Amino acid sequence: MVEDEIRLSRQLAKVLTEAGYAVDRATDGQQADFLANTEQYDAVILDLGLPKIDGLTLLRQWRSAGMLAPVLILTARGSWHEKVQGIDGGADDYVSKPFRMEEILARIRALIRRTSGLAHPQLRCGALELDPRTARVSVGGAPVKLTSHEFRVLSYLMHHSGQVVSRAELTEHIYAQDLDRDSNTVEVFVARLRRKLGASYIETVRGLGYRMREP
Ligand code: CA
Repeated sequence: MVEDEIRLSRQLAKVLTEAGYAVDRATDGQQADFLANTEQYDAVILDLGLPKIDGLTLLRQWRSAGMLAPVLILTARGSWHEKVQGIDGGADDYVSKPFRMEEILARIRALIRRTSGLAHPQLRCGALELDPRTARVSVGGAPVKLTSHEFRVLSYLMHHSGQVVSRAELTEHIYAQDLDRDSNTVEVFVARLRRKLGASYIETVRGLGYRMREP
């Protein structure tokens, strides 16, 4: 999340974290560029008015360098030319300031869903269901309580259903940048998920990682 208004940035990060995302924050264009070049993101929220490098310049650079992550831009109210320039510059969606947090969350969910090639807002794998709108998980209609890290692991695997996901990739996507990362903990989360959901949903692909499968 790239936003130089500290209060707004903190508030957004809090709401996104509560919704189950691992969030990295940048407060100027340079920092944002550094993070975008060192980390893999599922989605980027980008304010256009930024110190050091402005958002539109950043976005154009990222796109010409081949960055594929969906980008939601934050624009000034009523500034139609910012929206047009932003979308032409490679943004996937926009929200005008001031906005409701619910709107940001809904647009981020949709962007991540579409990037994963999924049509339905609710993710399913056999009897297992995950709803990114409510962060609820159930098996055969019975709710399953997950910790935030377990939820992130499951959500990432379900967004990439049928694909093999490595432990390193999972580690990158479940922790915010400033936290200690240990890819061994992914194994612990997967073991706990198997206990809670049933062992057959998450398959271990020896030497490569994990894959969701319908039992
Ligand atoms: Ca700004």
